[in-house]
Amino acid sequence: MSQLALLGGKPVLSEPIPHTWPVITDADLARVTDLVRRGEISYDASEGFVAELEGGFKARLHRRHALATSSGTAALHSAFFGLGLEPGDEVIAPTYTFLATVMPIVACNSTPVLVDVEPDTGNIDLAAAEQAVTSRTRAMVVTHLNGHPVDMRRALDIAHRHGIRLVEDCSQAHGAVCGGAEVGTLGDVAAYSLQARKTVAAGEGGVLVTSDRGVYERAVLLGHFAARATQEVLSDELAPFAPLGFGLNYRMHPLGAALAIGQLARLDEVLAKRAVNFAAFDELLRDVRGVRPAPRQDHVTRHGCYSYQPLYEPEALGGLPRATFVAALRAEGVPVTAPTSPPLHLEPFFTAERTALRTFVVDPRRPIYSPGQLPSSEVYVASALRLPAYSEPLAADVIEALQEAFDKVSRHAKQLHEYARRSLEAGH
Ligand SMILES: *Cc1c(COP(=O)(O)O)cnc(C)c1O
Repeated sequence: MSQLALLGGKPVLSEPIPHTWPVITDADLARVTDLVRRGEISYDASEGFVAELEGGFKARLHRRHALATSSGTAALHSAFFGLGLEPGDEVIAPTYTFLATVMPIVACNSTPVLVDVEPDTGNIDLAAAEQAVTSRTRAMVVTHLNGHPVDMRRALDIAHRHGIRLVEDCSQAHGAVCGGAEVGTLGDVAAYSLQARKTVAAGEGGVLVTSDRGVYERAVLLGHFAARATQEVLSDELAPFAPLGFGLNYRMHPLGAALAIGQLARLDEVLAKRAVNFAAFDELLRDVRGVRPAPRQDHVTRHGCYSYQPLYEPEALGGLPRATFVAALRAEGVPVTAPTSPPLHLEPFFTAERTALRTFVVDPRRPIYSPGQLPSSEVYVASALRLPAYSEPLAADVIEALQEAFDKVSRHAKQLHEYARRSLEAGH
């Protein structure tokens, strides 16, 4: 067996695997340069490419309303605001997700109630979510993490039985399909990020979709004051507030919309190409000791292929630390990483009784968490590995090299134990 690259041997992959994202075509560029030339770099209402992008989301998702926003975070804030949450209202949320799934609930003066996630997908544990329902629960938010959809049939069933609203954070799952229905079509309201890493990339931007007129009008009022609000906020209850709104400006930049239009049109093509790589990763990892291919539950009709996340199983390698395993793979030229951010319930906002926040109402009755309380989220964070979702099918020799690198590292577990022990003694 050849020597591990980490210990001075020759790496299996001598060159980095080419990876271009976002893909920007000449047509995308032409849309952007046309706008810049015309000086069309700000819209007041739903106009031009912003309106076209919103139309694309509405048509794809069969939703009555779409609202482009300045970020996915703004779309989530608008979604929660759109539900008309009040102080003291509780919203059930997964503890493992990007912070923007949860903290805008606080910015609505309401109370996030964090629940555990599944140890393998990292998605919200729906049984735990149902147990967390109280008389104050108004909504539940789910994140389709890494492109793997949450079981929406079950989530909807819980929401209906308890009379609570359902918010979908689709920021990592553009185009994913669950039990035959695309994500974003099932909840009361869904939010997408169009940040540069996301599968439809505007650079910065977001989209909210809903078929609920009340949710939409309130979302428009929050971040689209004056022009758009006056045009679109028409209900007797809310129309008088349209000229002032709430003073936030969550409008999307027209140049971002110009970039995202082509990306939305190419979404299915991109997902099909990424799916080829995901299948190849499944296959190459199948017999690697210490690694389990990324999970895929039965309700997944189409994976959103945002990030490929196999699970590390240290028991199979005598307890070898994940960091050592990852370092050895990286030395071989495999661009694997491990998640770095902890579950949200371990952050000071959720572990400390008092916060320094002043403006927002921080519910004195909110739950305070401690380590170990939502254990599966900690298992997930400790065991997940990440491979990039390459947007062009990888060449056969690259797949072969990846397989060889995983095999090589896994077979050298013994040397790696020794290396880890020496590093520890040397105080690294
Ligand atoms: C990226 C992301 C967001 C936030 O999007 P921004 O556009 O960066 O504000 C929210 N939720 C999830 C799950 C995300 O991955």
